[in-house]
Amino acid sequence: MQTTGIHHITAFARDPQANVDFYAGVLGLRLVKRTINFDAPEVYHLYFGDQAGNPGTIITFFPWPDSRKGRVGGGQVGITTYVVPAGALPFWEERLQRLGISVMKAERFGEAYLQFSDNEGLRLEIVARSEGAESEWSFGGIPADKAIKGFGGAVLFSTKSAQTMSVLEDVMGLRKVGSDQGYTRFQATGDLGNLIDVPESDMEWGAGGAGTVHHIAWRADDYEQHESWRYEVQLAGYQPTPIIDRQYFNAIYFREAGGILFEIATDPPGFAHDEPADSLGEKLMLPAWYEKARAEIEANLLPIEVRELDKGSSS
Ligand code: ZN
Repeated sequence: MQTTGIHHITAFARDPQANVDFYAGVLGLRLVKRTINFDAPEVYHLYFGDQAGNPGTIITFFPWPDSRKGRVGGGQVGITTYVVPAGALPFWEERLQRLGISVMKAERFGEAYLQFSDNEGLRLEIVARSEGAESEWSFGGIPADKAIKGFGGAVLFSTKSAQTMSVLEDVMGLRKVGSDQGYTRFQATGDLGNLIDVPESDMEWGAGGAGTVHHIAWRADDYEQHESWRYEVQLAGYQPTPIIDRQYFNAIYFREAGGILFEIATDPPGFAHDEPADSLGEKLMLPAWYEKARAEIEANLLPIEVRELDKGSSS
C-alpha cells in the first residue's frame, strides 16, 4: 500500500488567539474547525486548512496557555513545509517581512525555500510548485492565486534516520527519489503533502511542548484501507493503537523507530461532517458526549476570533 501523503500535522501552542492570528491572519489559512481536545476539554483543538480542510492541507493545534515551551529536535517533524503556486514566493517573502517575520532563504533539491518560525518557534517553510490544486480560500489580502495550497511536505528530524527512512519506504509506501546536501527525499503518490525530506544524520532528541510538532498523520483513502494499514503496521513490528474515531477522520497511531509519532487517518468523513461547509470553524463544535457540558466548556476557553492583520499591499 502507498499513502498519498500527509493528511494533517498536529502541533502545540500556548496562546489560542496568537495561534489564530498566525495561521489565519498571517498565512491566510481557513479556520475549518474549532473544537476541543477530546481528551482534555479545557484545551481548544483548532484546525486550519484550505477552503474545505482537505487532507494534505490541515495543520491542527492544541493551544494551552500553561504549556511549557518545547525544543525542536529529533523524534519530531522538524520543519513543516507549505506549498504555494509557482511564482508566488516573492509575494510571500514581502508579506512575511512586512508582518515582521524574519525569513531565511534555503535551497534543497534545486528548490528555493523561505524559512521562518511561527509565534511559538514552530519551524515552517514555503516552497513554490505548480503541482497541487490552488486553494479557493482567500483571506487577509492574499489573492487565491498566491494562497497556500496546502503542505508541500515535511522535514522529519529522526533520532535513527536509517530506520525512519525504512518505515517511510517499507510501511508507508513512499518512494526514495534522491539525495541532496545530507537530505534524502521520499515521494508519496499525491500532489500535496507528498515530498518528505529526512536529514541523513541522526539528530539529538527534542523536547515536546509549545512550538513543536506532536505528530504527523498520513492519508488512508477509506475505512477499509485504514484497517489494512493497521494490519500492515503490526506486520512491520509496530504496535498501533486501536482505531480511534476522531469525529472528522478515523485514526491509528504508532511511534516509528526514529522517535516520530505517526498517525494514519482516513480521508472521510471530513470537516463538513458536523456543520455546514460554508460556515466551517465559526462555532465551537463538540462531540455528542460533551454537549451537555457545553456552557461549562465554553466558559473555560479563552475567546478567539479570526481577524485580518493586513489588508495587503499594492505590490
Ligand atoms: Zn492527528
